[in-house]
Amino acid sequence: MARYDLSRLPERCRNSFRVSERTGCWNWIGTILNTGYGSFRYKLRRMGKTHQPSAHRFCYGLLVGPIPKGLTLDHLCRNRRCVNPEHLEPVTLRENLRRGVGFAGRNARKVRCKRGHPFSGDNLRINALGERHCRECLRIKAWLWLRRSESPGTDWRWEDVPPRSVTSRTSRRRQKAKRAAS
Ligand SMILES: [Zn+2]
Ligand SMILES: [Zn+2]
Repeated sequence: MARYDLSRLPERCRNSFRVSERTGCWNWIGTILNTGYGSFRYKLRRMGKTHQPSAHRFCYGLLVGPIPKGLTLDHLCRNRRCVNPEHLEPVTLRENLRRGVGFAGRNARKVRCKRGHPFSGDNLRINALGERHCRECLRIKAWLWLRRSESPGTDWRWEDVPPRSVTSRTSRRRQKAKRAAS
């Protein structure tokens, strides 16, 4: 604990966590959000604006330094209430999900989608919410949607969708454009 200059934290913040002798976690006893993370509310007098960052990010920022842009703080101790910078590591969101123990983490460790396509490399798409999607399934869905909207009433099935290696309409169009350009 001596590693960090705790005087950098506002007193109210310093009084908002308790150090666990057993785990070394600094357990936040202030506001806990639905997400399980602590929250520290403060007002910048100069601006008159209220800020409510998550407690672990706030403490980390003051004790260690700014969190690099685009990175999220991973709780190495898996204890979301913990604000001990020693238990926090800036990682990419993707890495955080992969490591996670919650629902997202379980999903992240799944290696195949429900149709058996690999959840890896080019086939894996992660949206802004951190949800994982199978590109191949998205392609199949788009294909079916197009066929069904072109000829309503027909009963296209997943099995009817040609594999990706078959030149798709868009790539054919792209090739044509290329030929025209050269
Ligand atoms: Zn901890
Ligand atoms: Zn899939």
